[in-house]
Order: sequence, then C-alpha cells, then structure tokens
Amino acid sequence: MIDQFGRLIDYARISVTNSCNLRCVYCMAEKNELTSEKLHLSVEHIIQICTAFASLDIRKIKITGGEPLMRKDIADIVRSVKNIDGIKKVTLTTNGILLPQVLEDLSSRELDGINISLDSLDANSYKAITRRGSVNDSLSGLNFALNRGFSNIKINCVVIEGLNDQEIENIAALAFDKNIAVRFIEIMPMGFAKQHKLVPQDQIVMRLEKHFGQLVPCSGNFGNGPAVYYKLPDFCGKIGFISAVSHKFCTSCNRVRLTAAGHLKTCLHFRNGVDLRTLLENKVSQAELICHIENAILQKPVGHAFCSSFSEYEEEFADMSHIGG
Ligand code: SAM
Ligand code: SF4
Repeated sequence: MIDQFGRLIDYARISVTNSCNLRCVYCMAEKNELTSEKLHLSVEHIIQICTAFASLDIRKIKITGGEPLMRKDIADIVRSVKNIDGIKKVTLTTNGILLPQVLEDLSSRELDGINISLDSLDANSYKAITRRGSVNDSLSGLNFALNRGFSNIKINCVVIEGLNDQEIENIAALAFDKNIAVRFIEIMPMGFAKQHKLVPQDQIVMRLEKHFGQLVPCSGNFGNGPAVYYKLPDFCGKIGFISAVSHKFCTSCNRVRLTAAGHLKTCLHFRNGVDLRTLLENKVSQAELICHIENAILQKPVGHAFCSSFSEYEEEFADMSHIGG
C-alpha cells in the first residue's frame, strides 16, 4: 500500500522470537534479566498477519529475531508464509550458527535468501562482540548454505569503532571468490548500540578503495530495501552499504516491522504502530485486522530522528532483539 508520504510499503520484517544464542554487545544485555520473558507469536498468528499484509500488497517478508533459527518450527514458518497468496519472497536473517540443522529441511525454492550476520572473522573479536559465539560456527553456516545451492546470500557486518573496524578489508574479501554480497551497516543509535561508535560509510569506502581499487556502482535491484551495491575489481561478489545515519533513506522507506511481542512498528526509531497480538487474542475478524494495519501504515512517521535532539514521537525503548533489526 501507499502511505501518506507516497511511499510504497511492500516489505515486512517479522521478529519470530526475542531469544538468541548470542548476546551481541550492541543488541542485547549479557544477562537478559529485565527482558527474560520469551516472546513469540504462534505460527497461526504469523500466518494470519502475513495474510493481512498480502492483502495490502506487502509482497516480501523477512523472518528475523532474536535468532529465528532458535524456533523449532522455523521451517514450518518459512514454508507457511511462502505459501500465502500474494507473498512473493521470504528471506531470513540469522547469525548462521544453526543453519546446518535448519537448512536440511528447507530448499532454495522455499527460502528466497539468507542474510548472515558476521561482524568479525577473528575468533577473539567475534567472541568479544557476540559474548558467546564462535566465528567458525557462523562460517560453517555460510558454507553449508552455499553448498546447499542457496544463491541469494548476504553477509551483514555492523561496523563499530574499536571493535571490528580493523577488519573491514578482511570481511569484504569474503566476496572475492564467493558470489555473495558483503554489506557494511552503520550502527543505529538505539538501545545498547548508543554506547558504541559508528564508522561512516564514506570512511569504509575510502579504506576499501585504497586496498582493492575503485568501487563501481551496480545497477539493478538486489534486495528488499535501502542497501546500495558496488563491485570491486576482480571480485566475484558484491559490496553493499546500509547507512541509515550518514545516508538517510527514510524518503524511500518501504517497510514495517512486527516485533516478537506482536507489535506492528511503522518506524524503527519510534513506538508508532499497533498491537496486533492483542487484537488477534481478542479474535478480531480478518477484515478488522487489515483495517488496523492499514490505519497504522497511514500514520507511518516521515523518518527517523537519530541526528536530532527533538522528535514529535515517543522513542522506541525495546531491544533490537525484540524488534528484529
Ligand atoms: N539474530 C539475527 C542476526 O543477527 O542476523 C537476526 C536478528 S538481528 C537483530 C538482525 C540484524 O540487526 C543483525 O544484522 C544485527 O547486526 C542488526 N542490528 C542489531 N542492532 C543494530 C543496530 N543498533 N544498528 C544496526 N544494525 C543492528
Ligand atoms: Fe542475537 Fe542477532 Fe542480536 Fe546478535 S544481533 S544478539 S545474533 S539477535
């Protein structure tokens, strides 16, 4: 559907759980005491909501979390959402660790793409960022997906000053001999991430060009949203940038988000939206559900205010693990 600012909203990110097997320093508390309640929607509620999305011309769904692969029924969720009339693409974002188990059960016809979050290739830095993960497990997940024939694979790397910025070239080099996209993401100042310092896109571009040669823009559309893609000389894959702070892209925002608690968020930065879980628990009709979603989208804020000290909306306070990134 089209929102009040003329933006086509055709993409929804769905956080299917707030649980995670990692504790990335910018995303979750080490001890998740305050938010220890495990939140997730039932498969039936996810299907009902995605069916409503489809009737509003939302065609692309990203399954996220928390760590979505923590859900035992993840293959069922992917398959069920993909089977909804009007849903064209279902993709997944994961830390990759459980991919070998889960992909045994899913084909590239059912899952249209996989984003793997990988902030470091160095065992110690990876552990320092994720607090409990092993980079080899994540890399095994990547290789498993490649060997299983999945072609739309992207690596997401949030670059943080002092934590992994020394690895930019090494991480980019993953796309040298693999047909994947390595995407560098500017950390957004929300929740725990406020304690960390962003590395701007232009700085990363300068470093990559000094090391590898000129970045040449790719034409075409390779993903669901705001990433811009480039080729480096002799690279098999692509390099992408998602720079919500230094290259704000709200004027072309095409997305809504469903949190693990079932709240439909219309802007990452703000609380604006509607509590779909309560509506479903109160057994609203499908027509009413669609109407609530439509009204929320019509009131989608014009954009984030990360760089401003004032905003007319209530700022989001939930962890990114609830929201889904
Ligand atoms: N666990 C899965 C994963 O790590 O891909 C899915 C959930 S995670 C919240 C989704 C994405 O959001 C990850 O790529 C993560 O790095 C990113 N993310 C989390 N907090 C962020 C922040 N403050 N700014 C930018 N990206 C963030
Ligand atoms: Fe877990 Fe993903 Fe958050 Fe890391 S970024 S703690 S893997 S949800």
